[in-house]
Amino acid sequence: MSFALAILENTIRIAKERNAWVIRKIRVEVGELLMINPEQLEFCFRSISKGTVAESAVLEIEIAKARVMCDRCGSKLNSPYTPCRCGGYGRVYGGKDMILKTVSMEVDDAQG
Ligand SMILES: [Zn+2]
Repeated sequence: MSFALAILENTIRIAKERNAWVIRKIRVEVGELLMINPEQLEFCFRSISKGTVAESAVLEIEIAKARVMCDRCGSKLNSPYTPCRCGGYGRVYGGKDMILKTVSMEVDDAQG
């Protein structure tokens, strides 16, 4: 699954940059509109991270809600399908991104 792979590739890159030897915890935020099943994402991540520095990392997945706001007055709306009281229509913001929020790791301080 491409999302799991994206998380893994990014964490490994960060670990390399910081000289980390093991990754403890990864927190990602996924937009609800991506329709990601957190359990499935974790399962994929587990299977592809075997043998990497992220093998034993705890993966925390947060679902970020999309917001709907009126494109005319900026009021918060419940759905993009119901018009606002001002006659404007709702526009969806957020909910489509995957953000790697924090990566906790053990860094080898010894230089050389
Ligand atoms: Zn409005």
